[in-house]
Amino acid sequence: MSETPKIKYKIVHDRPGCIGCSACVVVAEKYWEMKEDSKSSIKHEKMQHVGEEEHLEHDEDYELNLEAAQTCPVNVIHIEKDGKREL
Ligand code: SF4
Repeated sequence: MSETPKIKYKIVHDRPGCIGCSACVVVAEKYWEMKEDSKSSIKHEKMQHVGEEEHLEHDEDYELNLEAAQTCPVNVIHIEKDGKREL
């Protein structure tokens, strides 16, 4: 049995630019939800609001959230790892 290694990373959601397409929710429903203003939000108890952005520092499901970021048509989901922006 191999365990998925933990990878420390940060999701940055530049929420004002979200066009509400729901793609991130379809890809990673565990972490993303649609809100009443028709924009998505990070769905996690440790999510922090930083200005109009949403940030989540996490160490699980890196690949899943990377996929959500890659799926976003307007590139408002960013993934940072080791202090560097991956996407
Ligand atoms: S994929 Fe991007 S534009 Fe679409 S709802 Fe998610 S954050 Fe917003």
